[in-house]
Amino acid sequence: MRFGTKLIHNEHSIDKSTGALSIPIYQVSTYHQEDIDVNQAYQYSRSENPTRKALEDTIALLEGGDRGYAFSSGMAATSSVLSIFSARDHIIVCEDVYGGTYRIASAFFSRFDFDISFVDATNVDAIKQAIKPNTKGIYLETPSNPTLKITDIKAISTIANEKEIIVMVDNTFMSPYLQRPLELGAHIVIHSATKFIGGHSDVIGGLVVAKGQALCSRIYAVQNGFGAILGPQDCWLLLRGLKTLKVRMDYQQNNAILLAQWLIDQAEVKTVYYPSLPSHPGTQIHLDQADGPGAVLSFETYDENLAKRFMENVKHAAVAVSLGGVETIVSYPAKMSHASMPKSEREKRGISNALIRISLGLEDIEDLIEDFSNALK
Ligand code: PLP
Repeated sequence: MRFGTKLIHNEHSIDKSTGALSIPIYQVSTYHQEDIDVNQAYQYSRSENPTRKALEDTIALLEGGDRGYAFSSGMAATSSVLSIFSARDHIIVCEDVYGGTYRIASAFFSRFDFDISFVDATNVDAIKQAIKPNTKGIYLETPSNPTLKITDIKAISTIANEKEIIVMVDNTFMSPYLQRPLELGAHIVIHSATKFIGGHSDVIGGLVVAKGQALCSRIYAVQNGFGAILGPQDCWLLLRGLKTLKVRMDYQQNNAILLAQWLIDQAEVKTVYYPSLPSHPGTQIHLDQADGPGAVLSFETYDENLAKRFMENVKHAAVAVSLGGVETIVSYPAKMSHASMPKSEREKRGISNALIRISLGLEDIEDLIEDFSNALK
């Protein structure tokens, strides 16, 4: 079965007890036990909930993993995954990581004596060099946020597998439709489902998929023990969002391709970051490991004031921190998604005050280009 068909026809497309074409929202905390000596599938909703299970099974199927987990946000997903490690474990985190992930890795987990190194993951040799005897995990994000840097998932997973290091990949920008890191050798995939999976800017959620029973049990122990689970209403919204993931992604990606081509010809634009452009250093690796460049791009103008003016004048896009919704969203990483990163760290990563990130929506591209043209001028 191909991806689009799997989105519509899977184990949970039809509710088994009623035939409903939408999985019911099981708004319940606990379940009657017929026999206290029998371990029921459902006892308490922190541990298991049928709506959540439908979502978790579906994302596991789409990512090609053994088990899925739904969390209350993308950050809850990342924090819960990092919680499978122990004090003094060394974890390599890609340098160009989402600001919130940088914050918990640098300021939160370091308090629990995690040994964390930020490394330029676009350089496979730099990752190799950074591995120490206590390295237990490598955390990647590709394409990265917001400069769309590309990491070779297969090459890094091959190195990691030789040393039994767990590779985690934040797959938010791509969704399982465009990239499936577990097929490339990674062990855990993480999503801010708030973005393309939800797709409508109306829910905060996180999803994780893992491979291998031992690893799955470790993640479940944190999900059940720590308890940062996603509620049934929000699970239902993500199940609904998933059904249209392919058509949204196809259309939004096409808008991004057309916008990227237009942006590179604009006199006010210094650089366009998009992993299908020949000028992007990661394009070849990206197109080898993913099925398309996605619907997010960034560009840098020649001066900061122009970038700010663009943000003030753009009309057919929301100015917001998120991405992946049906509406085009423009954001200013230095003051929004990456405000939690010190300026010196931002500059190291190319996140200047003239950088703008755009997540393309479902509008007509002609309207967007007309509007962006006015805002740039
Ligand atoms: N990962 C990436 C790439 C993100 O862009 C975000 C949020 O913007 C997150 C993780 C965190 O997700 P959430 O906001 O759902 O907690």
